[in-house]
Amino acid sequence: MDLYSGDINLLIDELSALPGIGGKSAQRMAFHILNLPHDRVKRLSDAIIRAKENVKYCSECCTLTDADICPVCADAKRDHSQIMVVESTQDMAAYEKVGRYEGVYHVLHGTISPMNGIGPGDIRLKELIKRLEDEDVEEVIIATNSSLEGETTAMYISKLIKPAGIKVTRIASGVPVGGDLENIDEVTLLRAFEGRTEL
Ligand code: ZN
Repeated sequence: MDLYSGDINLLIDELSALPGIGGKSAQRMAFHILNLPHDRVKRLSDAIIRAKENVKYCSECCTLTDADICPVCADAKRDHSQIMVVESTQDMAAYEKVGRYEGVYHVLHGTISPMNGIGPGDIRLKELIKRLEDEDVEEVIIATNSSLEGETTAMYISKLIKPAGIKVTRIASGVPVGGDLENIDEVTLLRAFEGRTEL
């Protein structure tokens, strides 16, 4: 016999399918939601649907944004000749939080991972190559994580674009192996950026 009613179980199942949410946390969240006033629950569900419907890829850097062009790409004061390649919108936010980088970004939405069947065609690499062809880019800073997949991706990108005569640099490996960029403190991130080396 089920411990809870079908609708409660459905809510718990949906929540536990989210990353980092185990069965216990999902139960706690489900009962917390059930105890909220109706308008709070509606705000939460509306925010989820609104974000899903309105958020799209920036037509330049591929980050997730509400506008056609994200605020960073739309900013004429940013140095558009310097592109930092990151794995995710969260990694881009981590660098923006440090507030010292003046160039623009390119968000790959993943890394090359042969073990998981993710090839170069499965991440936003074509869009990067197109930008390099269309724009005057002087430096590409590869800021993928220092995981195996992050390094594989960095090497792949470097081999792909170096023949075009564009300077390719890699952030310093002060970043813990396998550590997500978004979880690294700002000092470490700044040091990794400033200590970048040419590939
Ligand atoms: Zn953008």
